[in-house]
Amino acid sequence: MNRMIQSIIEEARAVSQEGHLASYIPALANQPKDQFAAYIIDEQGEVLKFGDYNFLFTLQSISKVMSFMVAAEYLGLHKVLEKVDVEPTGDPFNSIVRLEVAERGKPFNPMINAGAITVASLLPGNSVDMRVQSVTDFLSQITGRKHFINQEVYQSEFETAYRNRAIANYLKANNYLNGTVEEAVETYLQLCAIEFSTEDLAKFGLFLASDGRKASNNKPLISRKTAHVSKALMMTCGLYNASGKYAATVGFPMKSGVSGGVLCTIQNGQIERLKGRMGIGVFSPMIDDVGNSVAGMHFLQSLSEHYQLSVF
Ligand code: GLU
Repeated sequence: MNRMIQSIIEEARAVSQEGHLASYIPALANQPKDQFAAYIIDEQGEVLKFGDYNFLFTLQSISKVMSFMVAAEYLGLHKVLEKVDVEPTGDPFNSIVRLEVAERGKPFNPMINAGAITVASLLPGNSVDMRVQSVTDFLSQITGRKHFINQEVYQSEFETAYRNRAIANYLKANNYLNGTVEEAVETYLQLCAIEFSTEDLAKFGLFLASDGRKASNNKPLISRKTAHVSKALMMTCGLYNASGKYAATVGFPMKSGVSGGVLCTIQNGQIERLKGRMGIGVFSPMIDDVGNSVAGMHFLQSLSEHYQLSVF
């Protein structure tokens, strides 16, 4: 492996014990700490991979961008945007405070819990299982394998989802939720517990870089417009209340989750022999105070700097 990329990896690994594990549920608080994996794939199918790139972790907030795409394709983008806005908030992911100041309680964007719970309620199907399956089926078309729900993580989330239930009740009261509060919360939490690897994330990132076309046959699975809005949301709201900072220091669309994964999409760049459109998946479970992977973000900052990957 090239010396430059080797040193970027080593530097990121060196900080992989900084931060803390997500502690709000035992299933995440007890996961192994010392992991770092990254997978980069380009449109020619060339790959760079490091660490245990097949290791499965739960998507958590990364699922928010995926469910948004499925709902937008099913209902039409404009219908989804009637129920959720595309404005960044700068607030923590599970904040409730803006729901009251927003126009008639409309959630600010689909990357915070309020918006994601609304989106979960708009997915196709008339049961929790069908709605969740609409997303896992979509993901399978892109990654080429089946995706399962981590039941331990889901149960643990379900038993402690007081804030999410409060948010869902508030949304329901203001007519921003389809179906029942419990169905929306269950659907949302199951989506958070979908298992994914860094390889899967990279393939998904490439799919977004390709404006929603499958790498294998160039077939569109979502409209270009939905792909563009999704990437804009990732860039402006994808990294919790550090989204602005990372737009400035990394400069390509990313979405993180509290389990330590980061999904990235690059429109055009070159990293060693990889070039053009690329997808990157990173995983390292120790996170900072806002919820982003410490080593993951360190890696992406250095990578962007060395290979000049910022869109700006
Ligand atoms: N399942 C988590 C919650 O709703 C998502 C956390 C995250 O990755 O932001 O609280």
